[in-house]
Order: sequence, then structure tokens, then C-alpha cells
Amino acid sequence: MNPVKKIVLVVEDNALNLELVTDLLEAAGYTVCHASTADEAFRAAFELSPDLILMDVSLPGLDGLAATRVLKTDPATRHLTIVALTAHAMKGDKALALRAGCAGYLAKPIDTRTFAAKVAAFIDASGSRLAEPPATCEYAN
Ligand code: MN
Repeated sequence: MNPVKKIVLVVEDNALNLELVTDLLEAAGYTVCHASTADEAFRAAFELSPDLILMDVSLPGLDGLAATRVLKTDPATRHLTIVALTAHAMKGDKALALRAGCAGYLAKPIDTRTFAAKVAAFIDASGSRLAEPPATCEYAN
């Protein structure tokens, strides 16, 4: 029995970053789903129950850390693992991300050589999904 691919929900409003992250994760064997705003992310998180959420901190409207707090407050999504993805490589950002409920933090610009391995470290290798993801998991307008 083949294990079903793990789902990574990428919440990212920048097209170039999204393309890069998607390419790297698909090459590593993940199903990659996409949202570009907090509201889209809430719907995607609820419907997909992804194995990992990569959350851009800098989103239009509600930012990624605020969105993380919402997801971590909702009983339907609080179990999901969220990793912040941000260009703000400032001291203190990691602490802010962890306080918001993120399991960790990945800095942009992305290191293409190590990104997939860093992501994999946040995904529970033991569990396997019960069902294939829906045919479409594009939530961005
Ligand atoms: Mn952004």
C-alpha cells in the first residue's frame, strides 16, 4: 500500500516565493496547496487538515502571526503544525513566531539546498493520511 503524500499548505502572497517553495516541496514528494490571505488559509486549513502549514508572516490584511493565533485558538485547527516563513530576519522575530503558536521559523531568502530537509523536520513522519487531498487545493483568488 502506497502512503498518501503529505500535504503542505503554503500561505504566501508573493508569486515568486510561492513558485520556489512549491517547486522545492513538490520535488521532495509533497502535495502543495496554496492560500494567499488569512481568510483563505482558514478555509484551507479546515478543509485540508494539512500535515504542515508554511505561513508567510507578511500577508495583506491579517498578517501571518495573527492568522496563526486564530488557527491555534480554533479547536478544529489548533492541532495543526505551523511554521513561520518570513523575510524579517530581525532578532526577536523567532520569539514572536513561537509566541503566536508556530512550531518554528524559516527565514527568507530561502536556501534551496536545505529548505526541503528543514520542512521535513517539522512533519510527523509516523502518521499517514487517511485520504487523498481534493483534486484542487488552490485557495488563492
Ligand atoms: Mn508576503
